[in-house]
Amino acid sequence: MTRLFLKRGREESLRRFHPWVFSGAVARYEGQAAEGDVVEVYTHDGVFLATGHYQEGSITVRVLSFQQCAVDAAFWEAALRKARVLRKAVISTGDTTAYRLAHGEGDNLPGLIIDLYGSTAVLQAHTIGMFRARHAIADALRTVYGTQLAAVYDKSAATLTSKENEAIPDSYLYRAGESGKVISENGYRFAVDWEKGQKTGFFLDQRDNRRLLSQYAKGRSVLNLFCYTGGFSVYALGGGAARVHSVDSSQRAIDLANENVSLNFLRAAPHEAFATDAFDFLYNSDNHTYDLMALDPPAFAKHKGALRNALQAYKRLNAAAFSRIAPGGIVFTFSCSQVVNKVDFRNAVFSAAAISGRPVRILHQLTQPADHPINIYHPEGEYLKGLVLQVE
Ligand code: SAH
Repeated sequence: MTRLFLKRGREESLRRFHPWVFSGAVARYEGQAAEGDVVEVYTHDGVFLATGHYQEGSITVRVLSFQQCAVDAAFWEAALRKARVLRKAVISTGDTTAYRLAHGEGDNLPGLIIDLYGSTAVLQAHTIGMFRARHAIADALRTVYGTQLAAVYDKSAATLTSKENEAIPDSYLYRAGESGKVISENGYRFAVDWEKGQKTGFFLDQRDNRRLLSQYAKGRSVLNLFCYTGGFSVYALGGGAARVHSVDSSQRAIDLANENVSLNFLRAAPHEAFATDAFDFLYNSDNHTYDLMALDPPAFAKHKGALRNALQAYKRLNAAAFSRIAPGGIVFTFSCSQVVNKVDFRNAVFSAAAISGRPVRILHQLTQPADHPINIYHPEGEYLKGLVLQVE
């Protein structure tokens, strides 16, 4: 196995269990590492630190274990079993059949996302190491879930732009038959298209926040901007909203949002969906106001360099929303950009509030649910931030 030796003094972050080794910290290699290989990391004077996946780029090693260990079938099986034990504790099975089983660093599996949709597992590799291990991971999933697992779908083509993956389209790694596409979440039903949908097919990370929104919905006129497959819209209708408008720039998302509303409400629900740009909708649609809004845009900043522009965009979006919220109305506003921290986001919303000149109070501060755990040694894993505001 290839060994990496760090520069003197560069072992501190690993000693504090941060799971990344940056390229600038590496002094020398013993052996040759190919992308995706499992390697061992040592201090400058040869004390073992960690085992991890090697990749070219600024993050050179992502740590799989702070022990010397083989990354074999037993390793994957143990990691997934542990992940499943946590989900059994935090997901109320019965009314929720979809959850995140593996959340990268949050499960000590950097680069690996696995979402469970009923009996289908959707695997998304963000590193070459995880991609190369996909068949071993699929086998471990079968061992851990047994007959409860009908399919494992690999959806890494979009997240992994390496040469290795270019020629490998998304595909089933295992398929024992047709698996249902309708999941339950807090008792609501959603059709999930993991083959063609965005990310792994559904935004599981808003589960708890959708439920909170439903508690504010009774009798209100609701706007769900960036609705994707209509998660917040279904919960608002379930909570007794007087009417719900859903907006997304993707026609495919709008079709799915309509389908999901129909799945949940037999009689015609007071719901209308618009395939249009969210900013255009706020600026140009007739100027009636809403009593409750959800703003859940895509990540405006995908890397640190985009931070300034992203903060401007959050400010602009929230200011436009404040111009359309009725007195006493409630705004659920989110950012899922990893590089925008809680304080940055709150400042952007603060600036938007100041532009509106209206009294604004924070009622709740929201984050990601427990099946998207944050490794305390890897604070970068806290990516979803939300504020629930009352606007006078
Ligand atoms: N709130 C959703 C997830 C939102 S994901 C849920 O609970 O499931 C972000 C969505 O924003 C995507 O569906 C994407 O199509 C949409 N989107 C991106 N840019 C947009 C824009 N400028 N206007 C409207 N929708 C946009």
